[in-house]
Amino acid sequence: MKRITTVKELRCELEPARRNGLRIGLVPTMGALHDGHLSLIRRARQACELVVVSLFVNPMQFNEPTDLEGYPRQQERDSRLAHEAGADILFAPTLEEVYPAGFATSVEVLGITDRLEGAVRGNGHFRGVTTVVTKLLNMTLPDVAFFGQKDAQQVVVIKRLVEDLNLPVQIETCPTVRETGGLAMSSRNAHLSPDERAQALALFCALEAARELAGNGERRSERLLAGARGAMAPFGLEPEYLALVDPETLEDLAELTAPALLAIAARVGATRLIDNVRLEPAVPPADLSQANRSPQLQADPLPHREHPGEARQKAALIAQ
Ligand code: AMP
Repeated sequence: MKRITTVKELRCELEPARRNGLRIGLVPTMGALHDGHLSLIRRARQACELVVVSLFVNPMQFNEPTDLEGYPRQQERDSRLAHEAGADILFAPTLEEVYPAGFATSVEVLGITDRLEGAVRGNGHFRGVTTVVTKLLNMTLPDVAFFGQKDAQQVVVIKRLVEDLNLPVQIETCPTVRETGGLAMSSRNAHLSPDERAQALALFCALEAARELAGNGERRSERLLAGARGAMAPFGLEPEYLALVDPETLEDLAELTAPALLAIAARVGATRLIDNVRLEPAVPPADLSQANRSPQLQADPLPHREHPGEARQKAALIAQ
């Protein structure tokens, strides 16, 4: 695996691969790699002939200075793990390489960034994400970029960005990787004390409680959210937000009538955690025979609704 720090070197390194029609995959990360990140790299390894992992702690997306200062940085370890998971190139640019003196441009997705994470962290957070992701995509020009479902809103925002700016890249979403017990893996879990780690299970328990209610036929959002809150209470945690939303518009839903996203954020001590699950309405008994004829519906709890742009990008890739 090559370690590269400049855009010029990255372009030189990728040029022959691109000329030879190799499929290039990009996995953007902020480092402190864990199994969640590694699952993305392994998936990229399966799907692509050349895998670039970027490692850049992007100050522009942090809304709390202490979060940025305390963000775990362990480049040697990350480099070894990325290599073992199958990366060909670790692209770890400096701050000056990404934001040189005079840098004055930002990329902003409107509307969907105001909700959930955007509502709590301010609109600078997603502006930071979309600006750096646009830059990383332009630096690497990958065929496919891989993102985790763990950051569900981020994926929705990035898909919107790619569609709206006609960026020639396919976005692939990979499932959330969890620790035993259900806690979603996150670089920020490193900040949790053993007690806080136990308390952090509240997020997963809340999501599971709502999933169970939905599985038993509950469709009213109010009841699903109350069930989730109830499951959190014994842990002594209150959610910062807990919302049942449309998986594309991220607007609140009153009823679970179609696949939806249940998103949660909570502070455990000084550490802010997020998680989500996809919920779908239970199939009424009368519809079961119909559902049995649709293996796709059974295989994926949330049938992936293809974005029109995604379909076009796939078609373009196949045509190449
Ligand atoms: P980060 O380093 O936190 O910016 O994350 C880099 C990428 O890894 C993002 O696409 C995240 O959604 C993804 N990711 C983080 N945690 C997980 C996880 N537990 N499971 C799957 N993907 C994850």
